[in-house]
Amino acid sequence: MNNQDQAMSTQDSFSDLAVLLPNHGSFDLVSHITSPEDTNFASDILETMLQMKQEVVETPQIISKEYYKGDYDFELEIPPNHGTKAQWAFSSPLNKLFILMHQRFPVYFKCNRSQERLYVRATPIYSNDQFSQDIVHRCLGHSQESEASNRDVAPDVIQHIIRVHSPGAEYVGSKSAKKTLSVVFPLGELQAGDNCHRHNFEFFCKNSCPTGMDRKSIDVIFTLENEFGVIRGRQTIGARICSCPKRDKDKEETDFYGKRAPKQLTSVPNGKKRKQATATEDSDKIYNLQLRIAGKDNYEECLRLVHDHMLGSIDRQGHTQNKARCLQEIKKKIASRSE
Ligand SMILES: [Zn+2]
Repeated sequence: MNNQDQAMSTQDSFSDLAVLLPNHGSFDLVSHITSPEDTNFASDILETMLQMKQEVVETPQIISKEYYKGDYDFELEIPPNHGTKAQWAFSSPLNKLFILMHQRFPVYFKCNRSQERLYVRATPIYSNDQFSQDIVHRCLGHSQESEASNRDVAPDVIQHIIRVHSPGAEYVGSKSAKKTLSVVFPLGELQAGDNCHRHNFEFFCKNSCPTGMDRKSIDVIFTLENEFGVIRGRQTIGARICSCPKRDKDKEETDFYGKRAPKQLTSVPNGKKRKQATATEDSDKIYNLQLRIAGKDNYEECLRLVHDHMLGSIDRQGHTQNKARCLQEIKKKIASRSE
């Protein structure tokens, strides 16, 4: 093989590799190999990239669930969606979504502006560490091609329990090859005046589906990644896909608060619509809290705690103008925290 052929061969291999890498559309290193003198150098890069591809494309067997806001201050939020007939509800104290199957829900992603092209990956995993290496996939019944939800859907998408309704989504992994299933999609550009990226998701199985999740509870890990799959941020939520989201949310919150819950809550039978606790004068009075807190991280953590506490309070004791006003003020402080 002469030098020219060798250079061409390396370039071809590089092109093949570029296609295999995630989001290859923005991969332009191929154009850097232009002469036979570059061949050896290119071969070294090729080898390194092959190793990198192995690390990037294959999701590790045990995936971290730890919150990591990274350099871009990554965070996500699901609106609580209070309401008696809610088809989905997010519990802030439990950090858990309760939702019907086939019900779209929004997730708001926030992060600082970046020079990198950013993507979000949603990976469902079993909550219990005992099952964390098992693949979360759809049940046999819901995976039938005749199922209404599978019409005009690519075969590799059918096995996934979660889909995203955003352009450019790629469904990764394989149940038969025992490769973790996830969906990755471009974060997208912020629209004028917006401070977060909104994407809609939908679940296609219930936790109770036999031959699927089979009554095991799940979490969904959202990772912010660059175009090579390097993780830039991470946040995890619990999810329960069920027939009565509001009822299940109330029950789990009551269990969660246990003896700490106010008497009005613990005396309400499970499964019945809860009468909103009446706010007493003290519980709705506005108090001013001025504290000096050392450290930006500590300050932000305190704001987040207060935010979650106010949300939980509204959820437990009912919505009042004072509580809503305070929550709004805390949200504004959080939004302007980097100023
Ligand atoms: Zn199912």
